[in-house]
Amino acid sequence: MSFEEHYQENCIFCKIARGEVPCLKVYEDQEILAFLDTSPASKGHTLVITKEHFDSMLNVPEDLLAKTFRVAQKIAQALETKLGAKGINILTNIHEIAGQSVHHFHVHIIPRYGPNDGLKLECTPLKLEKFNLPVIANDIKSSI
Ligand code: 5GP
Ligand code: ZN
Repeated sequence: MSFEEHYQENCIFCKIARGEVPCLKVYEDQEILAFLDTSPASKGHTLVITKEHFDSMLNVPEDLLAKTFRVAQKIAQALETKLGAKGINILTNIHEIAGQSVHHFHVHIIPRYGPNDGLKLECTPLKLEKFNLPVIANDIKSSI
């Protein structure tokens, strides 16, 4: 099935995938597109999307997911070698509570340039005694 058949009318990334909204492309093949984020968290912040619409990573078929992350790896390598990134964060937000604002699967590639680059993705660890880790591990394991 072509990506055009899963087009969502009000989806900005579907419009970008179809060329209806412009973007600064850094990679394109039949299934995947990568372009610069217009509200970058750092210089070279890139988004990798599947051309076909999936609401989030949870719905993406395995082979397409693998291809997306292969492209993400290539872009991360280019950010290091060409833009001089000292580190890179790769992330995908799933649902609004996690910060997803565009509901078309995308992976953020965010280059990091130094300890004072103004980006903070760290979290404060919770106290370990709040959780029964073996039970949690088993809950997850048993439903995969
Ligand atoms: P999310 O918050 O859903 O994980 O990330 C969506 C990203 O898409 C944001 O970083 C936002 O800046 C970017 N974005 C939203 N609209 C556009 C657009 O029209 N063009 C481009 N290039 N990026 C966009
Ligand atoms: Zn879409």
